[in-house]
Amino acid sequence: MSPKPTKSRTSVPGSPDASPGPSSKGLVRCSIRQGPVREFSPEVGGERARLIVVNRDKWVNGTVLRYAFFGAGGTFGSWAGSDALKSQVRKAFKKWADVGIGLKFEEVSDRSNAQIRIGFQMADGHWSYVGRQILEQEPDDRTMNLDPSDAISSGNYGVDVAAHEIGHTLGFPHEHQNPHAGIVWNEEAVYAELGGPPNNWDRSTTFHNIIRKISPDTVQGSSWDPDSVMHYEFRPGLIKSPAPYDAQGVHPPGGLSARDQQWIKTFYPPLAAADHENLPLLTSRPLSLIPGQQLNFLLQPTTTRYYEIRTFGLSDTVLVLYERTPSEDLYLTGDDDSGEARNAYIRRRLHAGRTYVLRLRLYYSFSAGETALMWW
Ligand SMILES: [Zn+2]
Repeated sequence: MSPKPTKSRTSVPGSPDASPGPSSKGLVRCSIRQGPVREFSPEVGGERARLIVVNRDKWVNGTVLRYAFFGAGGTFGSWAGSDALKSQVRKAFKKWADVGIGLKFEEVSDRSNAQIRIGFQMADGHWSYVGRQILEQEPDDRTMNLDPSDAISSGNYGVDVAAHEIGHTLGFPHEHQNPHAGIVWNEEAVYAELGGPPNNWDRSTTFHNIIRKISPDTVQGSSWDPDSVMHYEFRPGLIKSPAPYDAQGVHPPGGLSARDQQWIKTFYPPLAAADHENLPLLTSRPLSLIPGQQLNFLLQPTTTRYYEIRTFGLSDTVLVLYERTPSEDLYLTGDDDSGEARNAYIRRRLHAGRTYVLRLRLYYSFSAGETALMWW
């Protein structure tokens, strides 16, 4: 159905803390606020709904994500940050980019031109919305906050906190909520720890961000990665099992783990020119994709006019159109038909002599090989 992602906010009063920070006690923790869960019509069942949920928060690969900071003064002055804080965030974006992925990050000064709007509100915790849900936020709202009351303005810890929040923005959940971890919590100790300063969380916030297991359908991979930047640090005494984490706690080493890097490339592999195929006008291009797979097409109109672009057959897809420029592919429009009884469709005026990039990602196909794409 609609491309509208549900609103879930990984709001953070907290820090991710996937790194040995100042100490595991007294860390500001990242909290994800969950918005309304997306509801599907009754005919959207099991496997189809599962695959939509897995893929819906992820970006179409090739997207340029622009980020901006709030400036000092004015209505939003309390969200401005020091140069040192901003520098930590830039380093964190570079960490993800340096893995070699198909997403690009670009800092812009005009926040109305940024999908990611970063504030540094004191005592508001660390948080970010998850994946494409950031697009649902009001233009003057933050999509991420990093809390300067935590020791994040210098050192690797602060970079890891920012990398964790960026991980949410890229569509990744908390690793300590991975059901494959098999963590048995010392629940009352966890509630007590997070209920005190600096987090002062109520029980439902702690449950939502720590105790609750994420549906196995929404995590990728079958194993637990206690080294992930998406994992909090936990002191001994909060985990009952498995050993040795009961006695030792969990202390991610900091930085992106090997599996963080593998995962990000699974969803956002580097895109090369050879990954783009010319799509002739008025030609039906059969699609045989597996769920999550993306195809990239080049459209080169010879006449300036309105064109229509559509998928055919029974499938759930997201379709995004960009205009290619010397510096980057500029986003024009997109459509997502997941969970709906219709096809992804774009109508747009295209100009002769320009090149457009069309990216299509499949969530679910009812019957392999019986879907197609065409523009006319
Ligand atoms: Zn988090």
